[in-house]
Amino acid sequence: MRNIGILTSGGDSPGMNAAIRAVVRKAIYHDVRAWGINYGFSGLLNNDIHPLEIGDVGDIIHRGGTMLYTARCEEFKTKEGQEKAVRHLRDAGMDALVVIGGDGSFQGAQVLNDLGFPTIGVPATIDNDVPGTDFTVGFDTALNTVIEAIDKIRDTATSHERTYVIEVMGRDAGDLALWSGLADGAETILIPEQPYDMDDTVHRLVRGHKRGKKHSIIIVAEGAASGVEFGKEIQERTGFETRVTVLGHIQRGGSPTAFDRVLASRLAAHAMELLLNGKSGRLVGMLANQIVDQQIGNALQKPHHIDENMYRLSQELSI
Ligand code: ATP
Repeated sequence: MRNIGILTSGGDSPGMNAAIRAVVRKAIYHDVRAWGINYGFSGLLNNDIHPLEIGDVGDIIHRGGTMLYTARCEEFKTKEGQEKAVRHLRDAGMDALVVIGGDGSFQGAQVLNDLGFPTIGVPATIDNDVPGTDFTVGFDTALNTVIEAIDKIRDTATSHERTYVIEVMGRDAGDLALWSGLADGAETILIPEQPYDMDDTVHRLVRGHKRGKKHSIIIVAEGAASGVEFGKEIQERTGFETRVTVLGHIQRGGSPTAFDRVLASRLAAHAMELLLNGKSGRLVGMLANQIVDQQIGNALQKPHHIDENMYRLSQELSI
């Protein structure tokens, strides 16, 4: 093992830089040269590869986004694109690759590994939807960003006695909505994994209002419903003044929390250790606070599940 490549792929997430830094430093510590590949799999196809020294990853541990940039790459989904990527990696003298990204990126990592190029995946996405890990890098930061926003909205919701619908990210996974809803005492949480009952939502709002509640907060994951449409219907059915906030991309940015920096460092260092020990085709993760790894293919076959106990708890606490 003399040279390893690192790329970030899919949606960016806070803590990707901490992961890049850990791979590079761990590699250099073990006399392995590290190379950055810009713009994910696109960079592989365009030979956008450059060496990374210790200093290149200094002063990035606290920065959001990714210093290697990221992209989505359709060409890489084709057989020709994948073979070209392996050819470019070999021509550049690479011995292995670390892919930092989400589940789509790991499909790509699996392909490279199947084509005989040793590859390891490090889960980093704000969605927390990668199987085989309790947490993905970036989720905790995004969650705290959402909480900060909801706390502010709550002030104005109380002052004006309004109902607020807040749409958060999560097309297929409701973790961000569920965790933020539980952390902020939302009346109702809509997630893609659970059907919602409009009558029940209206009932909860009216009941709270009769009890003298000054505000109501509803969290909607973008994959469960449109916040705007849902807000309209709530206002029509309850008659309560309702406002909608779509949080959008602020959820993806910002300085990573201590949790995400530590998680990123531990997962990325483990990825390097696996490669140094001749292992590949693995996805690293953290289960019950232990750093673990499993076959990428096996991990991706298991669908991501929402924590149903947590969902039930959120309903019990928002009576
Ligand atoms: P996020 O969860 O943040 O969206 P992601 O890694 O799931 O991140 P995707 O857009 O799904 O994001 O995937 C990123 C890139 O990975 C794609 O643009 C493509 O280049 C590659 N990729 C995705 N799916 C496959 C696949 N089935 N085979 C090969 N490559 C893939």
